[in-house]
Amino acid sequence: TAESAAQSQADLLSVDADFLWHPWSPSRVSAETTVVVAGDGCEVQDVDGRRFLDAKSSGLNATLGYGCRPVIDAISAQLRQLMTYDMGEGSNVPAIRLAERIAGLTGPHLTRTFFCNSGSEALETGIRIARFYQAVLGFPERTVVVSLDNAYHGSTMAAAACSATSSPVADDVAPSGFVTVRRPGRAGAESIEGPEGIEDLREFLSANGTRTAAVLVEPVQGRGGYVMPDACLREIREMCDQQGILLILDEVMTGFGRTGRMFAYEHAGVQPDILATSKGLSAGYMSLAAVTTTTRVFDVFDRNKDKAGFVHGHTHSGHAAACAAGLAVIDFIETQGVLSNVRARGEQLLDALEPVRSMPGVRDLRGRGLLVAVELDRARRAARVKDHMRGSGILVRRTGRSIVLAPPLIITASQTDRIAQALVAAASAAASEAP
Ligand code: PLP
Repeated sequence: TAESAAQSQADLLSVDADFLWHPWSPSRVSAETTVVVAGDGCEVQDVDGRRFLDAKSSGLNATLGYGCRPVIDAISAQLRQLMTYDMGEGSNVPAIRLAERIAGLTGPHLTRTFFCNSGSEALETGIRIARFYQAVLGFPERTVVVSLDNAYHGSTMAAAACSATSSPVADDVAPSGFVTVRRPGRAGAESIEGPEGIEDLREFLSANGTRTAAVLVEPVQGRGGYVMPDACLREIREMCDQQGILLILDEVMTGFGRTGRMFAYEHAGVQPDILATSKGLSAGYMSLAAVTTTTRVFDVFDRNKDKAGFVHGHTHSGHAAACAAGLAVIDFIETQGVLSNVRARGEQLLDALEPVRSMPGVRDLRGRGLLVAVELDRARRAARVKDHMRGSGILVRRTGRSIVLAPPLIITASQTDRIAQALVAAASAAASEAP
């Protein structure tokens, strides 16, 4: 069979090309695709035995690297005891404990957690909660959800409607009631230096505030490696408060340590009404996402149980083994000095990358914690930098014309140096090539 014959990377990729439909693209895999068979710390190994330093943490979710013993042990112990139990008509201990634990990190206002399985589902849930909340309060006309251009919130229907898309057919299937406004920052610039551009949101809300349910924002926009200045978040919070609009923060990528704080909103000193988290919550060990709302939002539903009718949930909401993973991940972050490592390694990475700033073809270098972007002048040049990095045994992510570094939060100082040195060399090689 194909299964038994597929031994080498090339064999496996040919079976892959015949049978798999990969996320994000229906196109077939390229010969450069890495079929990973094992992982250990910050490194992965492909089927042919080559090792790579994973400077993108899989899909930014392997935040504690590979083979993290305490997390694996917690999951296997839970699986042996009880894999899960239906949360619709019952409850289970890891889900109870994890909801309590999250409230300890997000409180005192954000106290109530709904579990689901992916970042997209978390946003879908947050959006439904916001619309129901407004309707229950007597504002059924408040249905609009405003997001910023270049955002990425996921692939399910509502989450995708709030996301930038290059698909010409996406508009045909997009549900109504989703509006995108220009994100703050200079027009055309990938980075955000100041709060210019916030006027678009202000104008939209002053004309349409009474039909708006929520504003949805990523505190650090992932798709282009953008960084949002704290000032904008504070202004957006104020605008929402003035008009009875809920603020949903998408911390699917940033939550649980990526920026050097447990949540990126802490840098701005701004809390949302609804917080979506996923990747760093289970560190890639299980599928898990959380929607954490304020007591105020939950109480509106609770007081109006009869008319709220919020019929929403997933079979695997609060999956016991996934929640056991979440508890072990939080324990690990808190006891192993993970947040201070993120801050130290993030600074080290930015300092060591400083030489790229003045290279031809490089437009910007920016970052927060272990989320660092090198923006080039062209996507093609960025693709070449990525290829050079792979040649040096380091896997990085490219979004548009930026190379985004997001290594596991447990990365060591010497591994950080290795990434920086390889990227300086790769950017220098790409700078001398035609644009
Ligand atoms: N929101 C952000 C900021 C993300 O980075 C992602 C995933 O990349 C999502 C939402 C969607 O999460 P998922 O892929 O788990 O559905």
